Amino acid sequence: MARLVQDIQDLPGAARVGEDLAEKVRALNTRFKHHSATSVMEGALSDAGNVALVSSFGAESVVLLHMAAVIDPMVPVLFVDTELLFTETLVYQQEVSERLGLRNIRVIKADDIAEKDPYGALRFSDTDACCSLRKTIPLQKALAGYEGWITGRKRFQSGTRAALDFFEVEDGTGRIKVNPLAHWAPEDVRAYMDENRLPRHPLVAKGYPSIGCAPCTSPVKEGEDPRAGRWRNQNKEECGIHVVDGKFIRTGA
Ligand code: SF4
Repeated sequence: MARLVQDIQDLPGAARVGEDLAEKVRALNTRFKHHSATSVMEGALSDAGNVALVSSFGAESVVLLHMAAVIDPMVPVLFVDTELLFTETLVYQQEVSERLGLRNIRVIKADDIAEKDPYGALRFSDTDACCSLRKTIPLQKALAGYEGWITGRKRFQSGTRAALDFFEVEDGTGRIKVNPLAHWAPEDVRAYMDENRLPRHPLVAKGYPSIGCAPCTSPVKEGEDPRAGRWRNQNKEECGIHVVDGKFIRTGA
């Protein structure tokens, strides 16, 4: 089994951010090209503590959470609570964590919401700034010290993810993002859930195939893109905006 963390540690120290890291990611994608999602997960978690799993406990999150729990229940799971999530998501997070036996859940919250968005109105004037305040900056702070992180993103989810690979360089941070489910289709997700009898997020049955914050998520109609209910009628597909060296960087988180 390839050892992702060892691969990362083999990188020339000062040159981790840049072309060397990009080359290493290309090599990892080539090496794992024909491997399963579970193999990629095992590779990423072979040295747990340096790699975290980031989970929204959304519609399909339980797949990666289950894979992680089977491999190592102590894997750090970072859950960003924006304080604008559905109550169903908060309950689901607790139920799933308990049922899967995940023992290292870390709930991440911004510590400056009271100061910068006391009435929760920022989303009306600037959704990117709201996502940055409530999601991306707290997540980036929480990821400090990790070599990489695991996401549940998949190619089929939207146009911006159509070329997603197992491994990618995270812009401006020197970390690797791991996407074990990048090549999965919706039926793969459903099959895994069925085979392992995993609990569904309760909002899926109510027409929410993709679930984020309550004010920015709406049900989708049959035939619509699964993510059509996220920031509906806005020119926005991802929440991943953060500041690196004074610039806004889109990460697709
Ligand atoms: S999804 Fe909406 S409410 Fe949640 S952080 Fe982004 S803009 Fe704010």
